[in-house]
Amino acid sequence: MASREPVPAELYPPTRLAQVSAATARAGLDALLLTPGPDLRYVTGYDAHQLERLTCLVVPAQGDPLLIVPRLELPAAQASPAGALGIEMRGWEETDDPYALVRARLGQPERVGLSDRMWALMVLRLRTALPGAEQLLASAALRELRARKSAAEVAALLAAGEAIDRVHASVPEWLRPGRSEEQVAADISDAIIAEGHARVDFAIVGSGPNGASPHHTAGDRVLRSGDPVVVDIGGTMPSGYCSDCTRTYVIGEPPADFAAYYQVLQEAQEAACAAVRPGVAAEAVDAAAREPIAAAGYGDYFVHRTGHGIGLESHEDPYIVAGNTEPLEPGYAFSVEPGIYPGPHGARIEDIVVCTADGFQRLNNVTRDLVVVPG
Ligand code: ZN
Ligand code: ZN
Ligand code: ZN
Repeated sequence: MASREPVPAELYPPTRLAQVSAATARAGLDALLLTPGPDLRYVTGYDAHQLERLTCLVVPAQGDPLLIVPRLELPAAQASPAGALGIEMRGWEETDDPYALVRARLGQPERVGLSDRMWALMVLRLRTALPGAEQLLASAALRELRARKSAAEVAALLAAGEAIDRVHASVPEWLRPGRSEEQVAADISDAIIAEGHARVDFAIVGSGPNGASPHHTAGDRVLRSGDPVVVDIGGTMPSGYCSDCTRTYVIGEPPADFAAYYQVLQEAQEAACAAVRPGVAAEAVDAAAREPIAAAGYGDYFVHRTGHGIGLESHEDPYIVAGNTEPLEPGYAFSVEPGIYPGPHGARIEDIVVCTADGFQRLNNVTRDLVVVPG
């Protein structure tokens, strides 16, 4: 049964601004300055265009927020979920200095948090406008809030997971000897949209030797009988939340050693998911994926971290990697995607999982068993 995508009022509750102000104070910042991107969308629901003209949400640690918007963008801002939050909005005319509006609101702050993906164009102008202010990253205040997904955010990620699972269910029809990776990626991209995403983020089709390169995209190589094919695909839903799922397929008879290491990989992915529960360090999930792969002699061929957080960005905190001792908490959502790339082929299996009160929930449920397509 398909899940319903949550409505903006559930995803962007009016209580969030107060939480963000409190987190700003806790982080020792006087204010957050958020330009278009995932931080602004998280706080207000406003999916603003990134333009050279300044759009900036000022969230003081104390006091009311202010959204500074180019006059011509004001109707879009008011029509966005931000409009329903009752945030004060100030439109600026083409001849105004919007940076002076930021200064007028904040006075002389000592420390400001800038959205992590703010353009240098704005960072430097804000430095000039607020010369006494130390500039830090807004993630100092926002990372914990953004990492701990609400029930509505988990529902949005589940809707994304179900949509990308439906695309994977169709992939075997498109993998045929004689077709190019690019042709398959085009079919996949069309399906990503048809299944409910607003945007295609990536459609990786790595056939044969290209499957041994984890970030190969899709090229003119023509599929052949006997190819393993790594298919790693994702998009962004209208809610703003992302999907990301990898399956590895085989066309016809697999190469001699492939079935053996695919089995190891499937067990490793299972073990890593089973390690997920509150209080477990992120790096312990990475270790749980790595151990069975190393024990089977493929350790040198698992060349990347086990996973990354996902939400309004397809890669965000927390990262599932050695050295990250941060304990997992309920609501953390991330990929579990071990891979084995011995060449001249490779394999990866990736699901998005959410840490629950006492374990984990997978948001991708299309089969992880090796799918052999006719070839
Ligand atoms: Zn990646
Ligand atoms: Zn992926
Ligand atoms: Zn991923």
